[in-house]
Parts: sequence; C-alpha cells; structure tokens
Amino acid sequence: RDEIILVGRSNVGKSTLMRELTGHSKFTTGKKPGVTRKPNHFDWTAEKFMFTDLPGFGFMSGVEADTREAIKTDIVRYIEENADDILAAVLVVDGKSVVDIIDRHTTDDSIPHDVEMFYFLDELEIPTVVAVNKMDKVGDRDERLNELCDRLGLFPPWKQWRNVIAPITAKRGDISNLEDALRTHLHEQGRDD
Ligand code: GDP
Repeated sequence: RDEIILVGRSNVGKSTLMRELTGHSKFTTGKKPGVTRKPNHFDWTAEKFMFTDLPGFGFMSGVEADTREAIKTDIVRYIEENADDILAAVLVVDGKSVVDIIDRHTTDDSIPHDVEMFYFLDELEIPTVVAVNKMDKVGDRDERLNELCDRLGLFPPWKQWRNVIAPITAKRGDISNLEDALRTHLHEQGRDD
C-alpha cells in the first residue's frame, strides 16, 4: 500500500490542497473542471507513498450530465481496482457549502455524491479523512462541523472525530489538521517509520 487518494467535487480546492501537500508549485488551479480524467501521481518526498489526484465530480459548468456520470464511473472503478494499494483517502469538501449541498441533494431515492463517496470508501475499508476546506469562510465553525458529522452518520461533537474530520484552509497553507489525521492513519498501519 503506497497511495493516498484525493477525491471531491470540483472547485472545493483539491488542486490547491494537492500543491500544499506535495510542496510542488507546478500545478495550475482553476483549470477547466473535468478535463483531467486520468489520475495524476505525485510523490510526497518526505514519505514513501504518493498522492493520487482523482478528477472532480458533481456539477461542473459546461460539462454534460453523461460526461459527469462517466467521470464518476471512472473514479469508482479506479478506487475499486486499486483498493489494495490505497493507504488512505482524503475526501475534500467546501466547508462553506457542503452541508447545504448535502441537504439539497438528499431525497428518498438518492444520496449526495459526498455522502455516497464517504460510505463507498468505508465499504472498501479505506481509511478516510474528510478535509473540510475553506474554513476561512466559515463563521460558525463548531456548529458547521457538527452538522457535517451528523450528515455523514458520525455522532457529534466533531471533536470526537479528529481523525476523520479535518478543518483546513488550503489557500493559506493551514492543513495541519489533515496532516495530523493522515499521520494517525499511517501510524495505525505501521507506516510512520
Ligand atoms: P479544485 O477544482 O477542487 O481543484 O479547486 P481549486 O484548487 O482550483 O480551487 C477552487 C477555488 O477555491 C480557487 O479559486 C481557490 O483559490 C479557492 N480556494 C482553495 N482553497 C481555498 C481556501 O482554503 N479558502 C478559500 N477561501 N478559497 C480557497
């Protein structure tokens, strides 16, 4: 197992986070969503594993519904086929909008992408950290994070779930909660040597 995957809706700040995690500066942000269909691999030089940035899913302006579906199918297939190599997953969400988006997309016969992905990773027994990004835009921090826990089926308060819920502000390089949570998962798998 030598791979950490990043998944999330487009525009949540995945590329920004990737740049912070890897320390590389060559990635461009704000690129047209949905274009990068193939996973990209990067080395986190300090450790013996790599990050894989999977394409963004969910709504993207200018991208057809069937293309969005195809992207999601690709992501699911990639994760299923590589589950044995995946150390951990980072599900990136936008702290400002995630609860509203989840609530808006929850109906009797469908569950929102983020929640679906969270359960899917759990089923595959891939340790998952939800990186709650853009916390600089969130005022009622604890309340918002508790609501998110609730929507993900985790019993609040969120502070009980520090290995799962990691509030960050990737744009400012404030990602220590995520790094701590990831380190805990790697430690549990004996990978912090
Ligand atoms: P991606 O589509 O998920 O790869 O998202 P990007 O990394 O391209 O970021 C999308 C937008 O969110 C850009 O305008 C970023 O500057 C912005 N962004 C990323 N991280 C943060 C953050 O922590 N706080 C705020 N306020 N904006 C952010």
